[in-house]
Amino acid sequence: MSDEQKHYHIWTMGCQMNEADSRRLGSQLERLGYAPEALPEKADLVVMNTCVVRQQAENKIYGRLGSLKTAKEKNPEMTIGLMGCFVGVREATRLKKEFPFVDVFMPPSDTSALIEYLYENELYTEELENRQMRDLIQDSDLLLPIEQRGNAVLGYVPIVLGCSHACTFCIIPYRRGRERSRQRTDILTEVRSLADQGVKEVMLIGQIVDRYGQDLDGDYDLADLLRDVNGIDGLERVRFLTSHPNWMTDKLLDTVAELDKLCPHLEVPIQAGNDEVLKNMRRGYTVDDYLKLHDRIKYRLPDAAINTDIIVGFPGETDEQFMDTYNLVKELKFDKVHLAKYSERPRTVAQRRMEDNVSDAEKERRRLMIDELFKEILTETNKKYQDQTLEILIEAKKKDRWQGRTGDNRLVFIEDERDLLGQLLDVKITATRPFSLQGELVDKTVLVNS
Ligand code: SAH
Repeated sequence: MSDEQKHYHIWTMGCQMNEADSRRLGSQLERLGYAPEALPEKADLVVMNTCVVRQQAENKIYGRLGSLKTAKEKNPEMTIGLMGCFVGVREATRLKKEFPFVDVFMPPSDTSALIEYLYENELYTEELENRQMRDLIQDSDLLLPIEQRGNAVLGYVPIVLGCSHACTFCIIPYRRGRERSRQRTDILTEVRSLADQGVKEVMLIGQIVDRYGQDLDGDYDLADLLRDVNGIDGLERVRFLTSHPNWMTDKLLDTVAELDKLCPHLEVPIQAGNDEVLKNMRRGYTVDDYLKLHDRIKYRLPDAAINTDIIVGFPGETDEQFMDTYNLVKELKFDKVHLAKYSERPRTVAQRRMEDNVSDAEKERRRLMIDELFKEILTETNKKYQDQTLEILIEAKKKDRWQGRTGDNRLVFIEDERDLLGQLLDVKITATRPFSLQGELVDKTVLVNS
């Protein structure tokens, strides 16, 4: 054990799952006596929580590892940890040879290797018994890291780890391991503890979140879990992500429609609007299946935002096939499109068996076309909110403006001198843009914080 105050720095890339893992790690490190440090080169411990879903993300890791190597040369006492999908469930041995200056490698959502390393090397300042160590590693009753305490309005809660679907383009199953649902008591304890610490909105997350419970005993599913989460005091809003079209049951949709805290916001990746491409991606549904699901959603949740993910330039995608995707976006008028150019990933079926034969220029042309179209769609959709009053949860202050979201996940900016953080407020929309709305408070007198 050391007497001197130790500092940690966590670099987080990628998805909500990584955000959740970093938050948990921060909390664990603080229990070992570490304090947060904004500058990595000043920290005693630096952890990089990585993403490799596309090559572009992976390239950033090499750049940052280079600067960490330099920092460690200057300060050999520094501990460096590498976590997340770059490490995955089986790349650690290979990476140890390539990056000998890294002290610890951790797969996604499992910080035990680092905690054990710090413990064995006496790199902590709070005395902990063995028993407490074990509790610490498995702790689901989580205390927010110092910097988020009192100001975290949103919380991501992993409910399904890993993925067993194996879409041909996707590296996630190889790096996050097979699908595992967390026990419902762990999830509910975690959500309750977040709500007790002031969190107003939770997002339950998983690669195919609607498959929650499939691998557990009994028939408790996502709809049942949502009902229990909806009953937790202090929470205002509940969302979940990501849905797979094949697993969105009517029971789930009816539950979202019925429960008061459930937001009318669904994330349902389509990936492509052409059957041949969908088949090559091994997504497990056709365009017609997706259209039927779209109808089922709109029938039960007419005002729900349906957000989607699309990949352009998948191996073999012809211009005609791409136009099917383009036309489908035009027809369905999604509320958000997360758009990506296909990026070949190691060990995936697409990498092993298909040729990445759409040029980058062509991928970029297709990406821009959908991007433009989507901007036009949103310009139109958002106009209807002009002068309407919407309920907004205020999430953060960015520059001089408060930033919040509607239940259907539209971004809204408000200028107001007072402290609005974490409040659910009626806001009148005064201006609309494709990617945000602007508004002002309707009732300026009812403010909890002031
Ligand atoms: N589990 C979710 C999403 C996982 S990753 C699903 O079932 O769809 C988030 C998004 O990244 C994916 O929806 C996909 O659009 C994109 N993505 C994944 N692998 C990719 C690749 N190799 N190239 C480009 N985009 C990719």
